[in-house]
Order: sequence, then C-alpha cells, then structure tokens
Amino acid sequence: MIAALIALSLIAADDPITEFLEAEATLPRAAAVAAASIEAGPLRCEGRFVQGALLVCRTAPGARVELSGQHAFADAEGWAVLGLGRDEPEAAELRVHLPDGTRFAQAFTVEQRDYDIQSVTGVPQRTVTPPEEDLALIRRQAQQKAAAFRSMWTGSAFTEGFIIPAQGRISGVYGSQRIYNGRPGNPHYGLDYAAPTGSPVIAPAGGVVTLAETDMYFEGGLIFLDHGQGLVSVFMHLSEVGVEVGDIIEQGQRIGAIGATGRATGPHLDWRVKWRDRYVDPALMLELDLASLR
Ligand SMILES: [Zn+2]
Repeated sequence: MIAALIALSLIAADDPITEFLEAEATLPRAAAVAAASIEAGPLRCEGRFVQGALLVCRTAPGARVELSGQHAFADAEGWAVLGLGRDEPEAAELRVHLPDGTRFAQAFTVEQRDYDIQSVTGVPQRTVTPPEEDLALIRRQAQQKAAAFRSMWTGSAFTEGFIIPAQGRISGVYGSQRIYNGRPGNPHYGLDYAAPTGSPVIAPAGGVVTLAETDMYFEGGLIFLDHGQGLVSVFMHLSEVGVEVGDIIEQGQRIGAIGATGRATGPHLDWRVKWRDRYVDPALMLELDLASLR
C-alpha cells in the first residue's frame, strides 16, 4: 500500500442498488477555492490514487475535506474517509479547508483501470425484466434503500481497517460490466464470496445497522452497515439476517449467513461499499494498513 502523503429510468435490468444513485448525490458543495497547490499540507491519507479506492485520512479536527465533488468532515481526532469512483477521471483534486479558514489543495492523477465483462446466466428472469406488477414494490424498496444510504453515523469504526467478511471463493469482482441472461446491466460493484448457504458473514469493520431486511426484491436478505461518516457496507443475498436497524456492531461480529436470495444464481455473499454517490472497491479496502495514521 502506498501511503499518499499530501499533505430511474427505473429499473428493469438496472443493478439493484444503483438506480437511486442520483437521488443522494446532493450533499452541499464547497465554493470554489483558489487552488493553492501544495507539496505537503495538513492531510495524510492511506490508500491509492486509483479508480475505486477508499482513502482513510488524518487531518485537523473539524477540517472539511473535499474530493471530486463530495466532502467529509474530519472528526474530533481528525479522521476522515473519502472514496474514488469506478469511473473517476484521471485528474482529481483534494481540498482541505481548516476550521481557521486556511485552505489547501492538491492535484493528483487517478490511475485508470480496465474492467472485465462478465456474463451471468440463470438468474430469475423476473429480476432481469421485472413484470409490471412488481414495479411499485421495486420503487418502494429503492426509496427505502436510498433513505438508509443517507445515514451519517458519527462513529469512526472505519479507522480500525477492514477484514474479510466471509470465507469462500471469489466469484465476482468490483467494476465488471455485467450481462444478465444476455441483457446488459450496470457494472457489478461488489466483491462476491461463493460459499454454501448458512456460512457465516461477519462485519468487516464495526458500525451501525441502517437497514436489515430478509426479502428484498433484488437483494434478498440485505444488511446495510454504516462504518462512520456515511461509509456504508452492503451485504446481499443473505439466507439469515441476524441484526436489526440501530444495532451497534463490532468488527468480526457475526451479522448473518450466506444465501442465494434475490437476484442470485447460487449461494454467495455480495459485499459492496458505498461512499456518498459512488461505490468503492472492497478488495482495495482490505489492503489498507492504517497503522501509520494512528
Ligand atoms: Zn455480486
């Protein structure tokens, strides 16, 4: 891991989670600042400047940190979390706005990735082209998910880093273009672990449960876990949901079990992670070593 010192058209074949991206991309934006480029500012981050990366940063308490149109506020100990999208442009800028009014900006280059095309056949056809009578339910659930994604937990469990949430063969990766039963769908944003139904799913980091449902249309058994500052893990296709909304979870705690519920071809965990309007790559999160920031 490189330490970066820087200072609806609803739904049809759409990915189950992505159809409400737009609705939540409305956090206020900072006024443009004069970009005083700096070599080393008040911000240190772990993570790579690559598409889909999560950056965990330390700066002055209360600082506002901005990255490609989204922002975070550093907590009382100066921790902040940021993410780069799957299709993040090459040129990006990190801005820091300190509580005393001082501003810093640092331009950097985002490494661009090539993503695979993956064909998935055998998923229930109703989840690829939902019948008319299911659309009201699908819309209702989309709103429910969007509301849960707006959580902004004040905890900072993300500072402990992330561990693997399930044992199993990796059967799907972040970013792949998906073709469901021959029909092109949205990219796949999760990291999939294939394992027998009933295998445990544990929390990759602590957090608060903001959604816990057993029978969502696309996702089946579904849990959202906010690791702090609105960094939300999503666990899909669960056969068992062992937590309730509002539960505070510790890293490593069992939260449910692997299943094949919803739009799935076989038992697996789909773990995806969202920050603001973008999904980040869980595999990159697992590489993070935050020791240098503590
Ligand atoms: Zn998946």
